[in-house]
Amino acid sequence: MKNDLDLLDLLKKAKSLQKNAYAPYSLFRVAALVTLKNNKEILGVNIENAAYAVSICAERVALSQVFAQGYTKEDIVSLFLITDSKTIGSPCGLCRQFMIETMPETCPVYISSKNDNNDPKIIRKVLVKNLLPLAFKPNSLKGN
Ligand SMILES: [Zn+2]
Repeated sequence: MKNDLDLLDLLKKAKSLQKNAYAPYSLFRVAALVTLKNNKEILGVNIENAAYAVSICAERVALSQVFAQGYTKEDIVSLFLITDSKTIGSPCGLCRQFMIETMPETCPVYISSKNDNNDPKIIRKVLVKNLLPLAFKPNSLKGN
């Protein structure tokens, strides 16, 4: 298990991964990198579509891959997210709902944005459980 995440290494990898984003409409490239307990890294980028609603965010691409490759949320150590934004990037509401069920709630999410020189920098660490207060969870379906 990775005890000490090399955030600078993750930042470099995520920045490199951004070029794979398919964002011809927004030009807002996002990359997500999920680290697992076995040190494997699962990658995701945003994929847009001319029918905008069909587009998918980098976070959900990466987290879907975690499950497609046979892992579960218990295997996840962290999610590293990078955007083209100069202000704080943040997962959208849809991704926050997705993350609350597919990641450990105490899992850290590292969010990087760019400075005035367009260089990425790490500016925030947030826990999954703090991304979506009052989240709708599986036991919410039970209605009691
Ligand atoms: Zn999203």
